[in-house]
Amino acid sequence: MIEYTGFIYCPRCSKASLEQFYTNGFKCKECHFVYFHNTASATGAIIISTKGILLIRRAQPPKKGLLDVPGGFVDYGEPLESALKREVHEELSVDITDCRYLGSFPNTYLYETVTYHTTDVFFICHYDESQTLLPNEEIEEIVWVTDINSFEMNLLAFDSTKAALSLTKNHW
Ligand SMILES: [Zn+2]
Repeated sequence: MIEYTGFIYCPRCSKASLEQFYTNGFKCKECHFVYFHNTASATGAIIISTKGILLIRRAQPPKKGLLDVPGGFVDYGEPLESALKREVHEELSVDITDCRYLGSFPNTYLYETVTYHTTDVFFICHYDESQTLLPNEEIEEIVWVTDINSFEMNLLAFDSTKAALSLTKNHW
């Protein structure tokens, strides 16, 4: 069985003949099929408003009940900046502005039985607060962080978000 994906059978010849190929791929010993389970790109919006930093409580697995920033995976053919704005709009129905690159951090994201290695890219953003925040079904509630220095980082779902919020302290 292949680490991270849990795959056993070759998707081309159906034989149980997969072997690990470098750290991020597998190869079939029978038909020589090669597949790389490459790093995926994801975005995170650190939205700073007059109420504080906007966090969301996850309503769905993985890490249901823990806190996160709005954001998500980048679609095929999509720039990071567009993915960031699209994801925030899908999740909260607001448009963000003044997005500035903060940094990127690696993460792992277990979905169903597959572990995805991601590069999470974070931007500091603002939004016009005359817009109404309308959380979608992925969000249990909005949580405002008023003091980043006393915020308990272990309430966050992912290591990459912990690193990004720690870095945000320098921009507060
Ligand atoms: Zn094969």
